[in-house]
Amino acid sequence: MYLGIDDTDSREGMCTTFVGLKAIMRIIELGYDIIGYPRLVRLNPNIPWKTRGNGSVVIRFGYGSGERIKIGEMEGEEIYGYAREKKGKIHLSLDALIDILEKYFVIADENTNPGIVLTERKFPESLYWRAVRGLIEIEEIEELLRNEGAEYRKYKLGRGIIGATAGIAWRAKKKTYELLTYVPEEKFNSERFVDERSVIEMDRAIKSTFDNYDYENRYIAIMPNSKTPVLYGIRGSDPRDLIKAKSMVKGSEFNAFLIYETNQGTDDHLQRKKIKDIHSYESVILRGKVIERPIRIEGGHVIFKISDGTGSVECAAYEPTKGFRDVVMALYPGDEIEVYGGIRKDRFTVNIEKIRVIKTEEIMVKVENPTCPKCGRKMESIGKGKGYRCRKCGIKVGEEAAKYEELKRIKPGYYEVPVIARRHLAKPVKLIMENVF
Ligand SMILES: [Zn+2]
Repeated sequence: MYLGIDDTDSREGMCTTFVGLKAIMRIIELGYDIIGYPRLVRLNPNIPWKTRGNGSVVIRFGYGSGERIKIGEMEGEEIYGYAREKKGKIHLSLDALIDILEKYFVIADENTNPGIVLTERKFPESLYWRAVRGLIEIEEIEELLRNEGAEYRKYKLGRGIIGATAGIAWRAKKKTYELLTYVPEEKFNSERFVDERSVIEMDRAIKSTFDNYDYENRYIAIMPNSKTPVLYGIRGSDPRDLIKAKSMVKGSEFNAFLIYETNQGTDDHLQRKKIKDIHSYESVILRGKVIERPIRIEGGHVIFKISDGTGSVECAAYEPTKGFRDVVMALYPGDEIEVYGGIRKDRFTVNIEKIRVIKTEEIMVKVENPTCPKCGRKMESIGKGKGYRCRKCGIKVGEEAAKYEELKRIKPGYYEVPVIARRHLAKPVKLIMENVF
């Protein structure tokens, strides 16, 4: 059986992964086993009405067999996931879970439209790809759920059933893990802290983790921005290392943790496209040449234009990308690059997540005016592109007479936005270099 839950939290609080933890505890109480790791599946990051991270939670359960892996802990009780599922009839309907789930929905928030799906059969993989890269209408999902004989519940607009269904359809071909710790319920609204130094030490010691700390902006990325049940979440490519990493981080008290298998850091949302074929709300990889020098516009955003022969499009490094904007400012017309990012609608731009510099143009910059061939004095510019003249002798020379030097250019390779501006799905350059998947 697969249980999918989505769109239960709000920007202000709660977290669907906590609802997942509560569901797991109930499922175990009812006598079933968790199969594998629970899943946290991020979907299209560009859709306008997303809650916080646009992530759905999927729990597979039944009768376990094979190896038992520790996937979490709740108030000292260890939680296990089984390697395989053995046959056996499961007599469970959503009625047995609904009260525990509903209790943690942020139903009052206008943008929160929860959906829950319970199904024996997995859904076609194509649903996942469409939901992570585009948009699926709720009517189509409802029809599919009815045809599949799945049980589902919608709250308010019930959009959560889209993510819940697409999450169940995910095949985890590329995956990472996230270990989340949760503060006790009576402390959901209290201040909490995570010790910065301990996060840096953990980040340096546990190599398979990523996006823990932003050194450039001195920002603890494992801590959520809003008050949620989550104290911190550590991401990594090896789930066993995450338990070690947890033991190194110091901070407020937590009474539970859970490891999710996720599509975070996989770049699953991106598709290679020609510029003429791109649409709003998609995330794309475009290869082209810079055709307009980057400029800094109001608000501190940096904008430039690329073309691939089929069309041209503006690319933007927005203000929250901080120091990454200086990388982008170093581009010149003629540079061949790949741009990775989501397409915004309001100002049709590619919101850059990372770039790959493939080949740079040789840029010559004037470092000195020419000297007069007769008297040896420095000559003066007549005007842009018009050459130089000696004030004393009146001799004129062309532009080429000046002294030029080759500009030191940005090195080929990948450049990404800092951790503070990182999107859940964006594959960190570190993972690209390590060739994890
Ligand atoms: Zn002269």
